[in-house]
Amino acid sequence: MIVVLKDNPDKKQLDNLVSWLKSMGLDIHFSKGKSRTIMGLVGDTASVDSDLINALDIVEMVKRVQEPYKNVNRKFHPEDTVVEITDDIKIGGGSFQVIAGPCSVESKEQVCLVAQEVKKSGAGLYRGGAFKPRTSPYAFQGMRDEGIKLMLEAKEKSGLPIVTEVMDISHLPLFENVDIIQVGARNMQNFELLKELGRMDKPILLKRGLSSTLQELLMSAEYIMAGGNERIILCERGIRTFETATRNTLDLASIPLLKTMTHLPIIVDPSHATGIAHLVKPMAMAATAAGADGLMIEVHNNPAAALCDGAQSLTPEAFADVMEAVSKIRPVAYRG
Ligand code: PEP
Ligand code: MN
Repeated sequence: MIVVLKDNPDKKQLDNLVSWLKSMGLDIHFSKGKSRTIMGLVGDTASVDSDLINALDIVEMVKRVQEPYKNVNRKFHPEDTVVEITDDIKIGGGSFQVIAGPCSVESKEQVCLVAQEVKKSGAGLYRGGAFKPRTSPYAFQGMRDEGIKLMLEAKEKSGLPIVTEVMDISHLPLFENVDIIQVGARNMQNFELLKELGRMDKPILLKRGLSSTLQELLMSAEYIMAGGNERIILCERGIRTFETATRNTLDLASIPLLKTMTHLPIIVDPSHATGIAHLVKPMAMAATAAGADGLMIEVHNNPAAALCDGAQSLTPEAFADVMEAVSKIRPVAYRG
């Protein structure tokens, strides 16, 4: 971190700043120019609040030269992380997986039928929400505990590992046999939840927040990893922009960019990113071409009757078509 001081800084304030920084274990290198003094802070600056330093009277500007995230940083871990879900199902480092299934668990018949269908088309993992984060308190909130039980039944019947979203720490005991715990966009910065997940021995699918920067996404992953859990998969699911024609705006550039910033695998959710079923195929192809490590796609046996997100859900037939298109892109996908 570099701190540029204003001309003729007040000596007392400067002494206070220097002793505060030293108390955090940092070494300070002064570089005195004709009119400006620059301080180079050497050491672990991850916990230093640069905004606080910037707000001081004697400071002109602060610039970070070291990212505030360490564990998830590619610089400290050049190899791709491969998250092992089962002996056969891995995500990252060249292993590509498609997670498919309904937005919400609605009934035993629906959840078991869709699992068979997506498996037939080559999905490696099955998704389905039991706890649903809905904008309206009057909308379907999910089948909750019962929904988790039905997902576990679908897992047993289909043999597919399952992914489902947690919304509250107190529900975590229900997730014991869930293969990947999803943190939804709205909970990306639920720091207490992230810390608890960091203490667990379970893969975590961390979705990007609606208005979060890539650095904020990585800082949330850092929370989980700082607790000791290194099995994290990031998910780009579109961000909120001024555009209202699509539900969100899919940030495709985030895929190759995140790959330079972190060693964690990155999957893309073209369903929530667009909100429109016919856009899922082209965006799934584009995300694959851009180097994603996998996809998450919503599939429903009868999208028109879905209790949640029917407009973006694919029929099993449309999903099979996407799988075929994606398999043709895979050999020519960007690898950095
Ligand atoms: C979901 O995947 O079911 C979901 C709610 O997605 P997001 O958190 O990205 O909105
Ligand atoms: Mn959904």
